Amino acid sequence: MSVVDNCLFCESNKIVVTRQLPIHFNTKIFTWNKCENCGLLFLLPHLSNSDKEIMYRYNYHETYYFKYTEDYRKQLQIIESFKKRTFLDFGCGDAGLISFLQKNNYTVTGVEYDEKLVEILKSKFEGINFIQESDFWNTTTTFDIIHLGDVLEHVGNPKELMNQLKKKLNTDGVFFIEGPLECNPCLGYYFRKGTYFIRNILNRESLRVKYPYHITYSNARNQQLFFNQLQLEKINFKVGEEGWPYIDRLAEIKSPWLLLQYLVSRCSAFISSFIPRWGNRFIYIAKQK
Ligand SMILES: [Zn+2]
Repeated sequence: MSVVDNCLFCESNKIVVTRQLPIHFNTKIFTWNKCENCGLLFLLPHLSNSDKEIMYRYNYHETYYFKYTEDYRKQLQIIESFKKRTFLDFGCGDAGLISFLQKNNYTVTGVEYDEKLVEILKSKFEGINFIQESDFWNTTTTFDIIHLGDVLEHVGNPKELMNQLKKKLNTDGVFFIEGPLECNPCLGYYFRKGTYFIRNILNRESLRVKYPYHITYSNARNQQLFFNQLQLEKINFKVGEEGWPYIDRLAEIKSPWLLLQYLVSRCSAFISSFIPRWGNRFIYIAKQK
């Protein structure tokens, strides 16, 4: 196995291919690999530009982001404590967060991969600087705060991405990173494992993931280990919980199965609030050393 196939978090070469059904996408087969050193589950091979273009066309954001309205008061509360003004959202999606921050007097910039999405965002939001990712790396602007919300799990080179972004952060700047912990203990995780086991017996094919959207599936331990290698000064690493992949809003209950999901996600969040490091999401805050 070549160096490029080492663990995406700890670079160990002790990698085993798991029995999870591979993903067939864009005439390729993506396998599920587990690092025996840090426990990270990740997909191989790395995504090509063609894979990314197909997956992250404008429809992706239409399906997953534009149709949903999120509440960003929690993020505002976190960044207010930094007393900074310029904010980069790398992977800004529907620009929900930065348009909210703009209304709260932040100078905001959004970066996205897809050219069409960037054009749409530019026409939709006035006064926000949107840049396509390929152009962004040629700019010299640096920022007070760099935010990545649910981005790292989509990239095949998370360490390289963070090292590049460090060059875009002011010397007294702050990284604010949020994302899922899809393999971290919590009731919801164990419930999913149980349903996975049953589906594996009844209809194994139903378990096959269709698109390689998420490349890394982390837990609190290896996610922290990943951040510890970046030569940043940690301010906070916090584990929290949200409903996803299950529903967590009453309005979404439309069947007995969704009712069960709702109950599991609510109970899971309640239990996790008492157990340190249980949960399905993290927030990481750090500054330059
Ligand atoms: Zn590893």
